[in-house]
Amino acid sequence: MTISYIFEGSLYINMTNRCTNRCDFCVRTNTDALGDADSLWLEREPTVEEVIADLSTRDLSQFPEIVFCGYGEPTCRLDDVIAVCDWLHAHCDVPIRINTNGLSDLEYGCDTVEKLKGHVDALSISLNCSTPEEYDRICHSQFGLDAHSAMLDFAARAAKVIPSVTLTVVDTIPAEEIEACRKLAQKAGTKFRVRSYIGKGQ
Ligand code: SF4
Repeated sequence: MTISYIFEGSLYINMTNRCTNRCDFCVRTNTDALGDADSLWLEREPTVEEVIADLSTRDLSQFPEIVFCGYGEPTCRLDDVIAVCDWLHAHCDVPIRINTNGLSDLEYGCDTVEKLKGHVDALSISLNCSTPEEYDRICHSQFGLDAHSAMLDFAARAAKVIPSVTLTVVDTIPAEEIEACRKLAQKAGTKFRVRSYIGKGQ
């Protein structure tokens, strides 16, 4: 099974296929192959030890960035992801990013920004759209209409304590919707990125 893979020159870590959303545009519904990986479907979730064993076979210093992102939401394994982040920071100087739906506070019922603080260098959070109703329509979150505002609140708190936090949308949404999302990112104090749609997770 593919635990790590290379995509656009960076090293990606695939730790879970679980997610609290079921987005219409999720890469999982579009393709099995991504980067140099044939499939990111996991037979089972790898243990932290197995992830570290996999990463130990890589020359980590050659990558500009290491990213937690696979066929699933990395924060569904929050403590394990943090453990791997700590191992990575102890073994290389490469910045670490987590691509996330930003819903971990709702999943765990606590302030997960506090847990992530000091363990990760960057967060890329999928904003996707400007309203709770549209988010519910396209992301089918298990948290329903609460998801969108919780994600923005998570992003605003993260922006204060994590070095780089970016809210993202895909370039397939209307221009006025992109501008509405840009304003939400500004209000949250995060960076904003319009990414090309390739069916990729976050
Ligand atoms: S796009 Fe991301 S948040 Fe949406 S279902 Fe896929 S992994 Fe989950």
